[in-house]
Amino acid sequence: MKILFIYPKFMKYLEGFPGRSFAGAEYLNGYSYPPALAIAVLMSVTSDKHECVFMDENIEEIDYNTDADVIALSIFTPQAGFAYSICSRFRSLGKLVVVGGVHPTVCQEEASRYADIVCVGEGEKAWVQILEDIEDGTWRKVYRQETATDPKTIPVPKRSAYYANTDSYTILFDYLELSRGCNALCDSCVVPQVSGKEFRYKRIEKIVEDVGTMRYPMCFITDDVVYMPQNSESRKFLVEVFNEIGRSGYGRNHGFYIASTAMYPPDPELLSAMRYAGARVSYFTLGLDPFSNSIMTGDHGRYRRMMVDQARQLQDAGLLVYPAFHLGFDDHTCAIKENILEFCREADLSLAQFCMRMPWPGTIMWKRLNDEGRILHTDWKRYYGSSVVFVPKKMTAEQLEGIAADLWSEFSLNFHKLYKIQRTEVVGIGSLD
Ligand code: SF4
Repeated sequence: MKILFIYPKFMKYLEGFPGRSFAGAEYLNGYSYPPALAIAVLMSVTSDKHECVFMDENIEEIDYNTDADVIALSIFTPQAGFAYSICSRFRSLGKLVVVGGVHPTVCQEEASRYADIVCVGEGEKAWVQILEDIEDGTWRKVYRQETATDPKTIPVPKRSAYYANTDSYTILFDYLELSRGCNALCDSCVVPQVSGKEFRYKRIEKIVEDVGTMRYPMCFITDDVVYMPQNSESRKFLVEVFNEIGRSGYGRNHGFYIASTAMYPPDPELLSAMRYAGARVSYFTLGLDPFSNSIMTGDHGRYRRMMVDQARQLQDAGLLVYPAFHLGFDDHTCAIKENILEFCREADLSLAQFCMRMPWPGTIMWKRLNDEGRILHTDWKRYYGSSVVFVPKKMTAEQLEGIAADLWSEFSLNFHKLYKIQRTEVVGIGSLD
């Protein structure tokens, strides 16, 4: 069979605000980057007897004249509106459409209105079964894996399809997955629901093999729990992984983004292993925990000092600190703008990112806001991080969107600078000045 994998469109930052502009807006609207790993992973578990082709709607027109037998889409919530249009058009042409990923998992009933087959939860084993059943003509509407995928059995993702589009992406990242699942209960996160509440680790040799196949100068480690205070098993795994990657020599010419929440204790041994592996950028989310959220609500005490010290510690280790501030918590007022800028000045941060809080369907946050009647709409295309989709508590949606735009305008030039540098090299990333 011939399978066409499609990665549907995400809206760009200002697409939802025609007419609005600010300093550096062109950098936020002009970017595109390779898709998440899901399709590359599914391609790697697909039998060689099938032919796989790939299209990314973010950089190319979808070919509706394709001779593919199966159309497969991986969907995250902001892509759902675009994805459903693609599904409907292919089905009207008589094609068999399969959908999977985070959104179909949490909105199974909705997805089943647009697709022939819905894959719920992790998909590696279910996908193999779906293809066998399609060949036999015995396929059914919904597939759900009985047991979670053992990460030790996941082959190296086939990223070659993404590499074919290198010239079309303005930002180049490889992605690397170390584990699945998370036992934290951040109220706006779907990971525990989709991948389970237990950490499951990949095999270290397989991770090093995977790293050896990556082509771009920079790689984003997708597990945002890398520095969370975990059990000793988790910490031991991370130190070992990073030391093994370091020994492979990857870090000499390549670099990693290490992602985490802001809740992690200083850990010199782990930090040194990360540096040895090639960590160059520390990307972390602020707002999901009480410490970092207190910065935005105007705390000038212990937590703020802790966060400034943390940023300095990372900078002293040679990392570029790249925080992503989540905006729109119930205790946020219009003062968050000045509070954030003051903190960035004090911690000497040259780069920052700003996302609206998103009540992703299926999360604790979604349920609470829905119960309170505060969800404004379910136009999923607008669930992309820059549009406010619920009623904020202490300001209006327009005020909140305006604050985000003002904050972005302070940092968008450096955002552009970073991604331009990393297309070709990793030196100089530690400082953008
Ligand atoms: S946001 Fe990160 S730390 Fe929180 S539950 Fe999700 S994966 Fe875990």
